[in-house]
Amino acid sequence: MGQASISAATVASNNPRIASEVFAAAAQHWLDAHPIAPPLAHMDPAAQTDSHPGPDGHGDAHGFRRRGVLFVLSSPSGAGKSTIARKLLAAEPELGMSVSATTRPIRPGEVDGKDYHFVDLEEFRRMVAEDEFLEWAHVFGHRYGTPRAQIETMLAAGKDVLFDIDWQGAQQLFQIAGGDVVRVFIFPPSMEELRRRLSGRATDSAEVIEARMARAANEVSHWDGYDYVLVNDDVESCFEGVRTILCAERLKRSRQTGLIGFIRRLTR
Ligand code: ADP
Ligand code: 5GP
Repeated sequence: MGQASISAATVASNNPRIASEVFAAAAQHWLDAHPIAPPLAHMDPAAQTDSHPGPDGHGDAHGFRRRGVLFVLSSPSGAGKSTIARKLLAAEPELGMSVSATTRPIRPGEVDGKDYHFVDLEEFRRMVAEDEFLEWAHVFGHRYGTPRAQIETMLAAGKDVLFDIDWQGAQQLFQIAGGDVVRVFIFPPSMEELRRRLSGRATDSAEVIEARMARAANEVSHWDGYDYVLVNDDVESCFEGVRTILCAERLKRSRQTGLIGFIRRLTR
């Protein structure tokens, strides 16, 4: 961060009026720069049911309830987020996966409805027109979006939700659901290793791999829009790091509801 932006940030943090002007300007800049879906106003985070188990896993006994976590994993393509996501889903039964819709062609080994909902452009446009997406964006020349109905169903069933979406999706989701969103960015250990992983995955042509490499630096440049960053050097330790973040976020006091009743009983 340059000297000029440090002083602007310092002034803003000491002066609420200037701060609000700075944030309004930033919001306008964001809207101007992103000809993608506008923030989808009517996912009302307050509409979440507090049906999640409490922090100690004994919600019913203590009356603890908490708001669901919307857990976002982003990285340059090939850094390993799908690998980490699979391990997290296997280890955490209270976590559900958001399955995106995309217009990109299906890859060998992918399953429609499990990896993505593969749709044509016409269907994607219909979904946009009918406001079926919580967020959507252009990525690698294709469209990707998060259908909102599945998210509402998972939250109502007491699940936290995992999103494998890019920085544009993370930004949009944060605009909609703010404090319920936890954003995690995964770095590859190096660009050479990223290329090795993309080639080793053997799912893309040389041309597609080059396009993903060309985009990687741009994606990494959005690291500061995330709450947590990790390097996926060793899969196990990266996975443990991500799992620790999820566990700690579930325990945050701001997510707990039903605390007053518990404290009254505890202290009476
Ligand atoms: P992404 O979902 O970010 O595009 P993937 O999870 O598909 O990335 O991982 C890309 C490739 O790299 C896969 O073949 C995966 O097995 C491999 N991989 C993931 N993490 C590691 C790691 N820590 N070390 C070595 N290879 C890895
Ligand atoms: P891939 O084609 O490799 O599966 O995904 C390409 C990129 O699109 C990844 O960075 C992935 O996180 C992102 N992506 C997948 N689904 C969505 C989505 O619904 N919304 C957004 N914004 N990005 C997505």
